[in-house]
Amino acid sequence: MLPYDEALQIVLKTVQPLTPCEIPTADAGGLVLAESAHAQWDMPLCDNSAMDGYAIAGQSSVSDSPLQIIGASYAGHPLSETIPTGQSIRITTGAALPAGTDTVIPLEDAKEENGQLQIQAPVSAGQHVRHQGEEFQSGELLIQAGTLLQAGEISLLACAGIARVKVYPRPRVSIISTGDELIELGEKPGPGQIINSNLHFLTARLRECGCDPVWIGIGKDNTASLDQCITQAMDADLILTTGGVSVGEKDQVQDALANHSFEKIFWKVAIKPGKPVLFGLLGEKPFLGLPGNPAATAATFEVFARPALKKMAGHTDYHLQKRSGVLTGEVKNKGDRQRFLWCHLEWRNDQYEVTVQSHQGSGQNRSIQGANALLTIPAGTAQIAQGEQVEVLLLE
Ligand code: AMP
Ligand code: MG
Repeated sequence: MLPYDEALQIVLKTVQPLTPCEIPTADAGGLVLAESAHAQWDMPLCDNSAMDGYAIAGQSSVSDSPLQIIGASYAGHPLSETIPTGQSIRITTGAALPAGTDTVIPLEDAKEENGQLQIQAPVSAGQHVRHQGEEFQSGELLIQAGTLLQAGEISLLACAGIARVKVYPRPRVSIISTGDELIELGEKPGPGQIINSNLHFLTARLRECGCDPVWIGIGKDNTASLDQCITQAMDADLILTTGGVSVGEKDQVQDALANHSFEKIFWKVAIKPGKPVLFGLLGEKPFLGLPGNPAATAATFEVFARPALKKMAGHTDYHLQKRSGVLTGEVKNKGDRQRFLWCHLEWRNDQYEVTVQSHQGSGQNRSIQGANALLTIPAGTAQIAQGEQVEVLLLE
């Protein structure tokens, strides 16, 4: 059976970054920049005051005062006249320094009396001035393509007046749940029925990952119903199904896909949970058939779909990040497949500690709640003792 690392490599080689588009910078938070952004002007645009106080010519000193105050420059209201040496003006933070001035006396070091400025502390020429271009200069690289735009990047673009940016779009992901036993959240299950909880795991996680989920609905366990769902799902960037990909007689997803010229790339990976995971291309669109058991759906989403979606969203570092930590309790493992266990990674006692969640059955939802990482156990490792250093894949 295909080992996990190879399967992941295949997925990541198959999926490609989405075609960039231009959008308002105001809407670009959480997206990856596709084209480097350069400054269109100097920042600040002109020399201005860093303090509320008085602007003077730099060569004036305490002994020259009092200096006559001949006007004011306020933020947003610059003064166009030239200030002669030996005179001064009032100035506020952010206001342009008029010609003839290059130094600011803060209010705290000044006294004003009868229209005269008394300087009450030593002056160093050029003090408390923000110089033109000191933050960045026209033409300078501000943000490199490939950078995730977060609040800091958005504010830099905004102050540089870059109103539109080229970004990789948010991937749109179709979700098809399959199973005759499924009912929607809000309905009351009868005997043998269960709530379509995978839809809600995937929806919430996709949003956490900066993707847009597209609900297609529940496909019944027959090819006609699944056919219809697949047709509806096709215009997304990635198509996810849950359930119906194992070997049971009611697992019909592959039969339905065959009617849509599906190119199967792999089926079954040596992992637990999630062995029956299916990957291929539906036309040009990547398709992941996730096994139906909730913990298997979730784990295969994390270890395949999440890195694939990061690549599609333009990230250059799209692998799940790894951390190592100390295991807080013994873990037993059997079987010949690589194991993923939901766990909680926490910084405690000057180290990362890894606590494995309870209720790890693949049919159970409980283990996922509160987990922020997956503990990976290599195939063939039967046991890991408490206190041993282990590696986890981060989910945040
Ligand atoms: P399957 O892979 O279709 O055989 O499903 C395996 C198990 O997962 C069965 O117990 C299903 O009832 C359950 N299951 C399938 N789809 C979902 C879903 N959308 N939400 C919750 N459980 C599901
Ligand atoms: Mg099923």
